[in-house]
Amino acid sequence: MMTSSHRVRFTQSCPRCGRRVEIRASLLGCTVACQHCNAEFIASAQVSGSEHAEKADDLLARVELALKRAEDQAALAQTPAEQPIV
Ligand SMILES: [Zn+2]
Repeated sequence: MMTSSHRVRFTQSCPRCGRRVEIRASLLGCTVACQHCNAEFIASAQVSGSEHAEKADDLLARVELALKRAEDQAALAQTPAEQPIV
């Protein structure tokens, strides 16, 4: 089927075998079975069981916070603020 634009999918690493599992977005939060080892797990957009993912999320949160602060400062100063180096 070549209707990929119609069906939103994402990939998640299987908690058992670690392989990439393709999951339909409509199955988010549902229990899905790994296409490779048949392990069942909860489909979530966040890649779980990975330290790197958690660190990335933490970094992303900090970047968003810094951007919000920069926006606040820019609004106060009414001048283009310096880009904060994160
Ligand atoms: Zn698996």
